[in-house]
Amino acid sequence: MELIRVNTSMNLNKFLILNRRLHLLKSKAYINGDWVNAQSNKTFSVLDPSTDKPIGTVPDMDATDAKRAVDAAAEAFKTWRNTTAKERSYVLRRWFGICKENRDNVAAILTAEAGKPLSESLGEFDYGNAFLEFFADTARHINGEIVSSPWPNKQILITRQPLGVVSVITPWNFPYAMITRKVGALMAAGCTCVIKPSEDTPLTALVAAQLAEQAGVPKGVINVITSSRENAAAVGKVMCQDPNVGCVSFTGSTFVGKILYGLAASGVKRVALELGGNAPFIVFPSADLEYTVDQALLAKFRNAGQACVGANRFLIHKDVFDEFVTIFKNKISAKIKLGPGTNPGANCGPLINATQAKMVASLVDEAVSKGAKVEIGGKYAKQFGTNFYEATLLVGVKPDMKIYSQEIFGPVAVCSKFNTEDEALQIANNTRSGLASYVFTKDLGQAFRMSRELEFGMVAINDGILSAPEPPFGGIKESGIGREGSRHGVEEYTDIKYTLFSGLAKGM
Ligand code: ADP
Repeated sequence: MELIRVNTSMNLNKFLILNRRLHLLKSKAYINGDWVNAQSNKTFSVLDPSTDKPIGTVPDMDATDAKRAVDAAAEAFKTWRNTTAKERSYVLRRWFGICKENRDNVAAILTAEAGKPLSESLGEFDYGNAFLEFFADTARHINGEIVSSPWPNKQILITRQPLGVVSVITPWNFPYAMITRKVGALMAAGCTCVIKPSEDTPLTALVAAQLAEQAGVPKGVINVITSSRENAAAVGKVMCQDPNVGCVSFTGSTFVGKILYGLAASGVKRVALELGGNAPFIVFPSADLEYTVDQALLAKFRNAGQACVGANRFLIHKDVFDEFVTIFKNKISAKIKLGPGTNPGANCGPLINATQAKMVASLVDEAVSKGAKVEIGGKYAKQFGTNFYEATLLVGVKPDMKIYSQEIFGPVAVCSKFNTEDEALQIANNTRSGLASYVFTKDLGQAFRMSRELEFGMVAINDGILSAPEPPFGGIKESGIGREGSRHGVEEYTDIKYTLFSGLAKGM
């Protein structure tokens, strides 16, 4: 089974070649077209989650470096904002093309620092690069409006203008795609940016910047600053509050998203927030169970469950509960292969770090101590490394267990039973999160009802994967503000300007 839909047929030789493809690794940050150290000269190590061994070091930057990067982006904005849409489209397409030529190199670095299987890294690369291609096209379709005027001799003109420097703060679970999805859109709109990648995965971001440089992205349009977790708050403060910043675009935890939202409020900055999810995966009796379980494997075990759109709560109708659990358990056992990302055949890698692995283990342990039953897995897989956790299926989960309501972010599937459609909806909507949701049914009316009633930004009917550049990605409630991808994703980075042309009568 391939957890990502990508052609990954690959022999051992190719794997070995990929392992040597780390020559694009950078150990400096990128400000105003220069590869630089932190002004303090401090650095921190980036670890391979499969081995916990360092694969590189990068500058540990602080507020001073952040300010320098924002200034560079602000200077570049003065020119970039006045480029034509056609020029921006051309630059984005060149970046897309150069990245594509380096597909295997980027994927190798993704696997090295994020731990994901190579097949998934290639899948993330293809997904992420598709945003650059899509926004190269979209750049040429950011249009205004001329609306009918209520006054004689006056004309109303509505234009969209780039809103300035965008602070881009990204997580470790999709280190390439989270950057292209934001940066492709903001560049198409005419904005410039400062990127702060996660301390766990800064290397992919530096590679993306390196390839952007090769593609002729002008200096200062993209800046990448790297910092350790200790410096994240100080750097984040500058990125949210510097007067030159027009928007904060963040993907990460709801906890940090709320902090950044608060910081941005003092300057009334625009925010684009993609925060945590708590996706229900609802299965009705009419669903084809074999197919549904295959989709469940995708929705749950992709990236070892570390995805904000990952299925977090499997809600199964009572009539098919036992059968679903049996098929799910058998398919997990037959198809999920744990191992380091470079192992041929591995499709479930380590968790990103020891903290994440511990968090997942403690959620399972607490549930089991309160009576949940482990169908398969339920423990660390230390034979592969300290951060590996077995693909796990739990049943008998109750509302008093943390795992019932918390985002798991690990390879642990939790199945609960429901009796009626109304009950499924009530359980599904009973959360402050509202990102992705999944429904499996062959009843068309039921599919439409669920689409209407589910309080989530995204509803997938009969599918376990829903992201692409064309549809708008985003959540409601505490899952975020704004959309990424689609033309809406570009509009996030524009301000609407209304200009009134008056005095048009002859002789005025
Ligand atoms: P995750 O659990 O995915 O690491 P986080 O929300 O903790 O999610 O981190 C996402 C991104 O936010 C990372 O780049 C991290 O360094 C950054 N970050 C964490 N805390 C802060 C902060 N106080 N200010 C700015 N960025 C932060």
